[in-house]
Amino acid sequence: MTVRAPAKVNLHLAVGPLRPDGYHDLTTVFHAIGIFDEVTVTRADVLTVAVEGDCAQDVPADSNNLAGQAVLALAKATGVTPDVAIHIRKGIPVAGGCAGGSADAAAALVGCDVLWGLGLGREELARIAAELGSDVPFGLHGGTALGTGRGERLTPVLGAGSYSWVLALAEGGLSTPQVYGELDRLRATGPVTVVSDPAEVLAALRQGSADALGRALSNDLQPAAISLKPTLRKLLDAGADLGALGGVVSGSGPTVAFLARDDAHATALAAALAGLGVCRTVRVADGPVPGARVIRTV
Ligand code: C5P
Repeated sequence: MTVRAPAKVNLHLAVGPLRPDGYHDLTTVFHAIGIFDEVTVTRADVLTVAVEGDCAQDVPADSNNLAGQAVLALAKATGVTPDVAIHIRKGIPVAGGCAGGSADAAAALVGCDVLWGLGLGREELARIAAELGSDVPFGLHGGTALGTGRGERLTPVLGAGSYSWVLALAEGGLSTPQVYGELDRLRATGPVTVVSDPAEVLAALRQGSADALGRALSNDLQPAAISLKPTLRKLLDAGADLGALGGVVSGSGPTVAFLARDDAHATALAAALAGLGVCRTVRVADGPVPGARVIRTV
């Protein structure tokens, strides 16, 4: 069973104060883009995880792997023995703020649901997904969605059109808890900048206006990500200078998403960014795309 799950970018990410449980309340607009991980689950004697692709060595192939945890959680919830070999082919940047680990967990849930003939509904899978991580339910959902709570409560966002993105991958990754911690530190020591409600992003999506969407992109975590990785400032400025409609750090970063006018503009923008040497590599992708889906059954 091979399942494909997409990367996400946050078109809007408003972060509330730190909660007693260590999380922050979010209002975010998730957007699934056409950069994918492929997760294959096969019946086996024991649970194993193998990872291939760019930066595969940075993905845990043990009990810390989120796809492995997803298989264990689904097995526990349904009384099945979790003996599967999980093979992950990474296309999504590792530790990049694009929910790569969450995509793998969502894919593993969908794959094992079919492999084990469970026939669980999307709602039941989403409940298990929410326990695994804040972004895992969106990995199942895909498209464009408003996320609240920790990010796990989703409402579909109706929108027109498709958007052309350039993802610029910075050197190295950033740890999500560290970026949230840095935001708390910055807020405790300086003026608090808080992104307001997502009305502008939602209006742009309704109109299908790439220009308006580019202007409306915002992320409360961006100053914290820049504080931990100051080269991101240069990358954001370079994208703006090269004519991107907008640019924003994706989630906790360090990947930066630039919006282009169309696919041709995205290709030109990606080539120009790559030429400047301000990032490790670039990818071009369209969004929105669907969430985790079975693509092969052999
Ligand atoms: O749920 P997830 O595994 O994605 O979260 C990883 C970490 O990111 C959390 O332990 C927390 O430090 C931080 N986080 C947060 N508020 C959220 C989501 C994540 O503080 N809404």
